[in-house]
Amino acid sequence: MSKGTASMGKKSGKKNMIHCRRCGKRTYHIRKKKCASCGFGKSARLRKYNWQKKK
Ligand SMILES: [Zn+2]
Repeated sequence: MSKGTASMGKKSGKKNMIHCRRCGKRTYHIRKKKCASCGFGKSARLRKYNWQKKK
């Protein structure tokens, strides 16, 4: 896939991400049933990695 408008066209159509009930971001994956941002649906605790910047 190339960069630019052509690749952006694939973002239209099916909606995989909806607003997360826990963090409120549009990062909850419907098919995976988990949030990419906070890990809602994956773990009871917040998704966190030590390589993440503090705050
Ligand atoms: Zn979330």
